[in-house]
Amino acid sequence: MEDYLKAIYSLTRGGAPASTTGLAEHLAVQPSSVTGMVKRLAGLGLLAHIPYRGVQLTEEGSRAAIRVIRRHRILETYLTERLGYAWEEVHDEAERLEHTASDRLIDAMARALGDPRRDPHGAPIPTAEGKIESASLETLADVALGEPRVIQSVRDDEAEGLRTMEARGLVPGARVLVRSRLPGAPLEVQVGEGEGPTTPIPPELAERIFVQALP
Ligand SMILES: [Zn+2]
Repeated sequence: MEDYLKAIYSLTRGGAPASTTGLAEHLAVQPSSVTGMVKRLAGLGLLAHIPYRGVQLTEEGSRAAIRVIRRHRILETYLTERLGYAWEEVHDEAERLEHTASDRLIDAMARALGDPRRDPHGAPIPTAEGKIESASLETLADVALGEPRVIQSVRDDEAEGLRTMEARGLVPGARVLVRSRLPGAPLEVQVGEGEGPTTPIPPELAERIFVQALP
């Protein structure tokens, strides 16, 4: 149930409802199992159907999703900061622990870390009160040519992608500038400040990197 809430939260970030097909794809399950769970969550008042368009979280559903996201991101931060995990190793571990860790443990971890605002992948960590900073929706794949951006966060659910990003300096806080983008070819991206050489970035990797305008 918590995984569904998280998935719907992330799919509806742009404002549009999440479709059953979209949810099934996101969760890598059959559309038939999505239908059953959606009914259950609607029965619990955690989500609402928007006729012909899909589902959206209710206020209560959104609060529950944000609580799981907080647990996930605190766990990832604790594992990297305190237990020596690499940034590509923590997601799967956090996926398991987020459903069982108590709020007390999570709050103690957050305090020990000094209430961090971002996780190792740059994603905002919700506060214990459920407040969450808005996350960027623009990816490196969408940026106009020649317009500087700074990496805000990266998707963390694929270890191989994270290793490639790190090797190429594509980490939160790094400056990036897309020099060229041709269909079917890697993007040529300048990483870092000044006129450096460009690095080829496959489009599917660029879609996993969220950027924002320079501060
Ligand atoms: Zn994660």
